[in-house]
Formats: sequence, structure tokens, C-alpha cells
Amino acid sequence: QQVTGSGPHVAVLVFPFGTHAAPLLTITRRLASAAPDTLFSFFSTAQSNAYLFSTSHHNTTLPNIKAYNVSDGAPEGYVFVGEPLEDVELFMTVAQENFRKGILEVAVAETERKLSCLVTDAFLWFGKDLAEENGVPWVPFFVSGACPLSSHVYTDTIRQNFGVGGMVGREDETLDFIPGMSNIRIRDLPEGILFGNLESIFSRMVHRMGQVLPEAVAVFINSFEELDPVVTSDMKSKLKKFLNVGPLTLSTPPAPAVPDSYGCLTWLDKQKPATVAYISFGSVATPPPNELVALAEALEASRVPFIWSLKDKSKVHLPNGFLDRPNGILVPWAPQIDVLAHGAVGVFISHGGYNSMQESMSSGVPMIVRPFFGDHGLNGRMVEHVWEIGVIVEGGIFTKKCVTSCLDLVLAQEKGKKMRENLKALKELAHRAVGPEGSSTKNFKALLDFVCS
Ligand code: UDP
Repeated sequence: QQVTGSGPHVAVLVFPFGTHAAPLLTITRRLASAAPDTLFSFFSTAQSNAYLFSTSHHNTTLPNIKAYNVSDGAPEGYVFVGEPLEDVELFMTVAQENFRKGILEVAVAETERKLSCLVTDAFLWFGKDLAEENGVPWVPFFVSGACPLSSHVYTDTIRQNFGVGGMVGREDETLDFIPGMSNIRIRDLPEGILFGNLESIFSRMVHRMGQVLPEAVAVFINSFEELDPVVTSDMKSKLKKFLNVGPLTLSTPPAPAVPDSYGCLTWLDKQKPATVAYISFGSVATPPPNELVALAEALEASRVPFIWSLKDKSKVHLPNGFLDRPNGILVPWAPQIDVLAHGAVGVFISHGGYNSMQESMSSGVPMIVRPFFGDHGLNGRMVEHVWEIGVIVEGGIFTKKCVTSCLDLVLAQEKGKKMRENLKALKELAHRAVGPEGSSTKNFKALLDFVCS
């Protein structure tokens, strides 16, 4: 169904890796339902769009959202060699030009509606230039939380303090010169700020993003102000407008549910309250084989019932007989939001991905975090040391001993009880934020004004 008329026309540009696209589509759907006269042209790669708009994952289509495919940047016949971030680098090399063509030559031409606003994933820092070329405001969405955002906005300051490549021996020093970040150590920072290959396309992308975000008319995130009040207030002073509009899992209309194809929820119905470990490392990370074994052995030894979302190709690494265990199920993909909201789940063993962390928090489930890359370390640090709603595994890797003791700590010890109390308080704040008079509700209205007026 084609939307006709002359209302606003918003282009939404996606960073099609990890779980970046889904939350941006969720927000786009909210905006589109609130502003039925506004047309949203939603740009992502064919693969990402096919997944997002497949009937199972996105069964509510809105007439004023139209998906457009852009190239993934891989030349015809290209064979991936498995380099880290190879797909991201190919995409980013041609992204600006692809999006430029997509917006003007396809979406604007086809709909005959002039562009009125550009919403992009914040990683697509060139959104600022594209918006300027078209004479429209740029409204970027940063997919993680306030603290990771602050670490990018302050990258140049951090580099001045520590020197580029100067972190050796200083990993435990904290960012106490940045408001609200005094609990964060250098070692918790995402790659591309002080360590990793700072000249890579990825590092230059996040560096540039941190530099240009203060020029956007508004930056929005999937969080709520009360979660990180000091960092939020500091970001409000650094950015023209900083809008926390989450948690998305609690806002209405809810994101379309992932179908329970593998019977996770019916299995959970048979378990005792707050006893089950739910395990998932998101869409990208997989622990190395020895850690999969350690985790499996810890589950076996502790007899904790579990649901483990694990890709089929990783199952070969599990110990013999593990797959026949009666007190756990392995599934290739779980309806995570509904699983975490089920009363039987007592702990979430996670990579510390931002969406997973928000979802766990919204459901009041404590976490055991095994960080891999990006914002995971920083998120894990906040979980353990600031909000006190979970623990990071010792040394950042799974061992049988460590997982067994973390499970005991969270499920059976006083400390786990305290984590659940802290979560209850945060959950109440989150619910209030998305309530009728809440901060996220007000911020969403402001976002709607920026994007759709
Ligand atoms: N997820 C899911 N089922 C699974 C595993 C993950 O629905 O079995 C969803 C989860 O609810 C979350 C997303 O995938 O929304 C993972 O996002 P996150 O930011 O945590 O990690 P990423 O995929 O970006 O590494």
C-alpha cells in the first residue's frame, strides 16, 4: 500500500550489523504509528530487511513505512575470507554513496515527497553531511547506553589524557575526569577509543561519530534518564538535545514478539520460580570451544535447569551426552524478551550486549556477563559495579569453577537477593519513565516533534 499526499518524508538509515537494525525499526514503528501522515523510507541491506520484515519477526506492517534495500558493499562474486569486521568495512566503504543514491534517486523520486528529516544509526556519522546536503535535520540513534555514548563523545579527551596506544600498565585507571564515569576503567572501554587498530575503518567510524554527534539536532537512545542520571545530565550539556526514549521493551506498542518455535515458554511453565538459567550471547558472539565446554560442565555440575540459545554449528563442541540432559533445552533462537519475562528465569548468562542488558533489566533478571567486544565490557562493569545487578565472570572467560560459583552466588546467596532488590527498584524507575508523565514518554514526544514536524 502506497502512502500518498504531501506530509513529511523521513529517511531512516540502518547500520545492518549486530542488533542495530531491530531497535531502530521498533522506534520507527512507534513514530510511524504516532504520525500516520509521515512517510518513513527505511534503508538497510536486503539480508537485514528480509529478516526484519519477515512475517515471523515483524508481523505488523504499517502503510507509512517502506523498506528499501541498499548494497552490502561486497563486489559481485566476493568471497568472504573471515577477517574480523570484513562485512562492516565493505559496507562502510560505499555506504555514504549508496545511501545518498537510495534516498534521492529512489525514495524521493518514487514517492515524490521531498525529504524532511534524516534519522540514522549514530555509527553512520556521515548522516550529518547527507542531512546538510538535503537541507534537513539529522537525528541519530545511538544503539547503546549513556555511558558508552559518553566514552565516544569524550574520545579525544580520553586520548589526550592517556595518549594513543598509551594504556599498557594503566588498564585499571579510571575515567574519573568524565562526569558519571568514575567507576569505568580504561580496560572496560570499547575498542577504537584507546586500543585496537585505531586506523581501521571501524575505529575511524566511531571516532568520527563521537566528534560529530554534538552537531546533530538531537541524539536519542534506548534507555531512561534515571538509570544514569549524572552521565545523562552531562550528555545533555554536550549534545544539542539528548533524548532517552526507552526501555523499548516496556513502551507501547510493544515490539512484535519472536515466535516460540522451540517451545521455550511451555518448558518454562513446568519449572519452579526463579530457578532457570537463560543463556544467550546475541547475534554475533560465540564463546570459543573450551569455554562452551566449561559452561556446559558448570550447568551439569550445578544441576541448574537452563535454556541455551546456541547456534547449531556450535553444538559439536559440547561434551558427549550433554545434549541428552533432561533439565535443559538448547534452541537455535529463543523468544528472549518473553523468556526473560517468565517468572521461572532466575539468571541470564549473557555477553553484555546492550539490548540483552536492557531486556534483562526490564524483567528484573540478574546477569552473569562474559564480555566479548564493543560496549560489552562497559555494560558489564555497570552491571556489576554501578547498578549491582549481576557479575562479570572472573578474568572475562568461562571456567567450570567460576560459572558454578557465579550461578550459586546469583541464585542462592544473599548477594543474589540484593541484586534482585536492586533490579526491582530499577524496574520501577523504568516503568515510571515510560508511564504517562514519565521522562521517556516526554522525550518520545520531543523526538516525534523533531522527526515528524
Ligand atoms: N535474541 C533473541 N533470541 C535469542 C538471542 C537473542 O530474540 O535467542 C535477541 C535479544 O532479545 C536481543 C538481541 O537478540 O534483542 C541481541 O541484542 P544485543 O544487543 O544483546 O546483542 P548483539 O546481537 O548486538 O550482539
